[in-house]
Amino acid sequence: MTKWVYTFGDGAAEGAAEMKALLGGKGANLAEMSNLGIPVPPGFTITTEVCTAFYANERAYPAELASQVDDALALMSRITGKNFGDEADPLLVSVRSGARASMPGMMDTVLNLGLNDVTVEALAKVAGDERFAYDSYRRFIQMYSNVVLDLEHHDFEEILEDYKEHNGYVLDTDLTADDWKAVIVSYKALVERAMGKPFPQDPRQQLWGSIGAVFGSWMNARAVTYRRLHDIPASWGTAVNVQAMVFGNMGETSATGVAFSRNPSTGEKALYGEFLVNAQGEDVVAGIRTPQNLTEAARIQAESDKPSLETVMPAAYAEFVAICERLEKHYRDMQDVEFTVERGKLWMLQCRIGKRTTKAALKMAVDMVAEGLITSTEAIGRIDPAGLDQLLHPTIDPKAERKQFAHGLPASPGAACGEIVFTSEEAEAATQAGRKVVLVRVETSPEDIHGMHASEGILTTRGGMTSHAAVVARGMGKPCVSGAGAIRIDYAAGTMTAEGVTLKRGDKITIDGSAGQVLIGAVPMSRPELSGDFAKLMGWADDVRRMKVRANAETPADAKVARSFGAEGIGLCRTEHMFFDEGRIVAVREMILADTEAERREALAKLLPMQRKDFVDLFEIMHGLPVTIRLLDPPLHEFLPKTEAEIAEVSAAMGVPAAKLKDRAEALHEFNPMLGHRGVRLAISFPEIYEMQVRAIFEAAIQAAKETGEHVVPEIMVPLVGIKAELDFVKTRIDAVAKEVADKTGVTLDYHVGTMIELPRAAITADKIAETAEFFSFGTNDLTQTTFGLSRDDASKFLNYYLKGGILEHDPFVTIDKEGVGSMIELAAERGRKTRPNIKLGICGEHGGDPASVKFCETVGLDYVSCSPFRVPIARLAAAQAALEHKK
Ligand code: ADP
Ligand code: MG
Ligand code: MG
Repeated sequence: MTKWVYTFGDGAAEGAAEMKALLGGKGANLAEMSNLGIPVPPGFTITTEVCTAFYANERAYPAELASQVDDALALMSRITGKNFGDEADPLLVSVRSGARASMPGMMDTVLNLGLNDVTVEALAKVAGDERFAYDSYRRFIQMYSNVVLDLEHHDFEEILEDYKEHNGYVLDTDLTADDWKAVIVSYKALVERAMGKPFPQDPRQQLWGSIGAVFGSWMNARAVTYRRLHDIPASWGTAVNVQAMVFGNMGETSATGVAFSRNPSTGEKALYGEFLVNAQGEDVVAGIRTPQNLTEAARIQAESDKPSLETVMPAAYAEFVAICERLEKHYRDMQDVEFTVERGKLWMLQCRIGKRTTKAALKMAVDMVAEGLITSTEAIGRIDPAGLDQLLHPTIDPKAERKQFAHGLPASPGAACGEIVFTSEEAEAATQAGRKVVLVRVETSPEDIHGMHASEGILTTRGGMTSHAAVVARGMGKPCVSGAGAIRIDYAAGTMTAEGVTLKRGDKITIDGSAGQVLIGAVPMSRPELSGDFAKLMGWADDVRRMKVRANAETPADAKVARSFGAEGIGLCRTEHMFFDEGRIVAVREMILADTEAERREALAKLLPMQRKDFVDLFEIMHGLPVTIRLLDPPLHEFLPKTEAEIAEVSAAMGVPAAKLKDRAEALHEFNPMLGHRGVRLAISFPEIYEMQVRAIFEAAIQAAKETGEHVVPEIMVPLVGIKAELDFVKTRIDAVAKEVADKTGVTLDYHVGTMIELPRAAITADKIAETAEFFSFGTNDLTQTTFGLSRDDASKFLNYYLKGGILEHDPFVTIDKEGVGSMIELAAERGRKTRPNIKLGICGEHGGDPASVKFCETVGLDYVSCSPFRVPIARLAAAQAALEHKK
């Protein structure tokens, strides 16, 4: 018989931390904590396999499930001494969803389940506290109605707000038992009106209703969106946890809270979190009451007048600190925990590896190596390479003037600037229209995930450091200021006001998520210093990395940035970018529009010194590191004058009538320029163009070698080769120019000639091409276009349908399509190596900075990846992780 249910509690468990796939993250860790003897209320986990079976069998449960649940409930009864549904001393439970990866899009928790009109009386008697019992019951009705019966949370809130207003109450804690009884009558009436039947009184019906709601929520829109954004397969399924209740709402000696064992924003080694006295469940993160600090140090720093847990419940606090330390040692990582104190007794309700900013991840990883908790190899694996982008995020220029609009909590670091929008829909629409926005909300909910994703940053007026907005923003690496309480938002008017100043939708603001500031206007920003922990970790990564990392750069500015980020060479220098320069474009146009070879050579002669200067600069900055220069690639018409003014300018410069110029431009028109007269094809018709370029390269190499004292060995790359004879044609001319330059200068030249592999024909005939080519560089942008027969510029219109429909798993222009384009690369690498065993192989498409693609490059054994300068650190770390993984 399949085991569908795993129990935990009282110092033992059937599950363990390694069983996340089966028990979900929450269930596996509850089991682990139980096994460690940490106080955890007993309960059981219904496995993710039940979820899978549920969907495979038209939403029906496996036959044995009911009896296994009964057995597990019986064990809970033995441990707690209470029986589920018992009318004298009822066992109450929570029903909690728990997927393998934490998923905020999932079902909300139902607490206090098992209460009804009879058991609530019993609870009041057993606890000796009627107010507590009815507070719990009203919470249960509201949660169950919302989560299971799908009624609006808001309608219940309204009843409560009306009741409070009518009776002159401000806080929920002002209400007496009788008040709650009255509210419950209205709640139940609301349910009966909406459902056409009374609120379910049978605890078993309540339990199965909740279990069904958890499994049902796996396919709700929020969860589906979240899975899509985070690459979580639908096949994983969720588990359901049923757990005995402990009560943080039993008066002043009870409390509930959340904590991180280290600061998830900065990485600082200090307990970080919040709690509320006499509260339950999500009260802390809901932002309705302002939570209190855990530690005295944090309270003092926050200048809070509310006492810390350390002072109000010193015994529970001390035990809590010890448990957090123990969990950190046990899991060897920072912990995110939830706890409740019931009448002075501490209970742990959840632990998991805490989410953190990249900055915090770096600090923690480096600190934990120093503490001896993890090795430097493990530290490398702790950082998400793509997340390094966060560190390259701008911060507000320290010299900039700050016009403060309001301040809140520094919920997620970094600065962001954009137009104010008040809804997620607006945020998405504006971003699609190419505008940058900051999402401003009273508070966010899982429905806002897509809007948060579209925004540069998030500002909320309610909620603490662990509010939804704060947690999600940190996960996304977006700056966030939360709980900016002085701001009043008027959604209807599209305005927000603080201290007499009103800003409206579309106005620019800047938020500083590290300082918690909201600033008026677009404030200047600066890039962060990449030293300290960053440098240390990158050093470890460089030690284990096999592949080299180069940058795609053509300007001196880009080359300098690339080197400062640790690039070990230039993998792609696109010479056409140099042609667009204002001072040169006229000469370029003269060259294109020339009627005869003589005229063309005349124009090229004007370009030669300029090209030479470009290459001297690059070689000098790169100081002996390899530089791969790609000869002219784009279709010539890209350089042609388009506006009347441009045509007039060129006609004046060349002394040619404008009409003739227009005719020439029309003659050069191509129907499909990307497959037209470009790349090596230009050299076949006009060999003098490449001859000029390679002369500039050789002369520059000689000059730069003299000036830097470094040996400069240029790598000359011929684009769009599909036929070996094309490359031979060009190679002969390159060699001839080299000989000429060498003869003239008396310097012997070292250089390599290679080719891009960006056409399927080149990949397939790579063994032939390698007879001439000394290196291959996979131009994966074009190779993706030509392998798929898909134009990148047009694909955006329909690729979305492919991704949404699951026809393609990833955008092939972002992550290498392993199956197709990847096979092409493997084949070319294999055939190239057969001819020339030490052929140098690299990749220079956008994919060079995509961690998943870098991993693929490692498996093919490429020598280097080349990417845009700002992605160099990402590629260095990704290459290190790939090397470690590949070794295994
Ligand atoms: P989430 O996955 O959204 O964090 P949880 O299942 O962790 O949801 O539940 C949210 C909160 O409900 C917990 O932080 C805890 O405070 C409370 N809670 C859940 N189960 C219990 C329980 N058995 N006893 C007391 N509080 C509980
Ligand atoms: Mg929740
Ligand atoms: Mg939780």
